[in-house]
Amino acid sequence: MNDIDVLVIGAGNAAANAALAAHEGGARRVAMLESAPENARGGNSAFTGGAFRFVYESVDDLPQ
Ligand SMILES: Cc1cc2nc3c(=O)[nH]c(=O)nc-3n(C[C@H](O)[C@H](O)[C@H](O)COP(=O)(O)OP(=O)(O)OC[C@H]3O[C@@H](n4cnc5c(N)ncnc54)[C@H](O)[C@@H]3O)c2cc1C
Repeated sequence: MNDIDVLVIGAGNAAANAALAAHEGGARRVAMLESAPENARGGNSAFTGGAFRFVYESVDDLPQ
């Protein structure tokens, strides 16, 4: 734990995005600390099956 640059609390979608952003921003050692037992990790994000709602203005914002 002493060598960690960024510690993210939780391991759901928000935490995963924060961890990825920290790594892309230059943090070399990013850790995620999840309070749930391993078989219940991922919080409510695990219920989505990987399909997340997100905000967009028009179809032009969507990947082609
Ligand atoms: C049944 C169901 C189906 C859904 N389906 C969809 C869908 O199809 N599409 C969609 O876009 N959205 C869906 N949602 C909503 C979506 O799951 C949530 O909006 C989203 O997962 C929230 O992400 P989050 O990272 O904020 O929270 P979470 O995914 O809940 O992650 C929070 C994490 O933080 C951990 N945590 C909390 N407190 C601490 C602490 N003190 N220390 C360490 N860890 C901690 C929790 O254990 C958890 O793992 C669904 C929700 C439910 C309940």
